Formats: sequence, structure tokens, C-alpha cells
Amino acid sequence: MGSPRTALAELLSGNRRFVSGQPVHGHDVTAAAAASGDQQPYAVLLGCIDSRVPLEAIFDQTFGAICVIRTGGHVLDRAVLGSIEYVVGELGVTLVMVLGHERCGAVASTVDVLRGGRSPGGALAHLVDQIAPAVTEVGVDDPRVLPMAIRRHALRTVAALRADDLFAAPVAAGRLAVVGALYDLTTGEVTLLEE
Ligand SMILES: [Zn+2]
Repeated sequence: MGSPRTALAELLSGNRRFVSGQPVHGHDVTAAAAASGDQQPYAVLLGCIDSRVPLEAIFDQTFGAICVIRTGGHVLDRAVLGSIEYVVGELGVTLVMVLGHERCGAVASTVDVLRGGRSPGGALAHLVDQIAPAVTEVGVDDPRVLPMAIRRHALRTVAALRADDLFAAPVAAGRLAVVGALYDLTTGEVTLLEE
């Protein structure tokens, strides 16, 4: 398994292929068949369910290359955390990326609720509860609350992952990297978030 640095370089070069309109990995069944043995992914990505942000496509990754988890607003829960623990602990992946995106509906809904809008019922309320601290940190009345809270929420998700019992030691030793990034819906570009 490669280092976190080479894993990140591979991901970002895939995004450059995608942005330049020159992806090399088509999604055809020969690629599926070629990857039908044991899996050896090199990264795990946690992104939003937004239909405009298909992770394998925007990083130009083929079958078997990356594990992808998507939830509304890339919210963590135990199922998500357990899945990432599996990929890191059992498959030996060295890079975890949390990918937020502009105009995220989950974050926008949370801003609306915190501004006095009606709270959603059901399990959707869980997503709002998990995103709310990022919105509050930015300030719900800030005119740039949505883009700022999207960034803050991604970085909070990164921090939560780094603090995981199984990840803290390998992160401290440099064997595992957890990074936050942002997807630009217009250009297709992914940029790493500054901390
Ligand atoms: Zn979203």
C-alpha cells in the first residue's frame, strides 16, 4: 500500500483528467471484470448524496480503486464510521478524503432551520443536528454563511475522523491522512481545504 501522499496525488491527478475532459477510465464491464478479484483500493472517500457529485467520475477512478460512502451532507454516523474503519483497518487504505461541495442542500436546509424555519421530522432531523454546529460556528446571520459553513462542516468531519479511536495513532504517525476538500459544481475542480 502506498503512502498517504501518493494516494492524494493519484486522486488529484484523476480530478485533473476529469476537468480537462480527458478521463481514461470508462465505466464498462471489462473494467469491472478486471477488478473482480480481491479489492485493493487506495483511498476511501466520504461525500454528499448530491446527484451532481459522482465521486468515481470526478476523480476519474476505475473499478477497485476507491471506496465511496455518500450521505446527506457527508454526515457521519456509526455505520459510516464502521465502514471507514473497515477500509482503513482491513484493506490498509492510507487516505481518507471528506468531500464537500458548493451549494450543498443539506447545509442550506440547516441554515434555514437555524434561521427559524421549520425543523424537519424523522431521521432528516439527525442530518440537521449534525451540520448545525458548523453553521453556528460561522454565524447564522453571516451573509456568506452557506459557503463558509460548507467548508467548516467538511473540516469538522475531518476532525471527527482524525479523533476516531482507531485513527488517532496512525494519523499522528503519518501512516494515515484524513483530508478535507471541496468540489466546484461549475468547473469540476476539487481543491483541498486549508485548515
Ligand atoms: Zn450536498
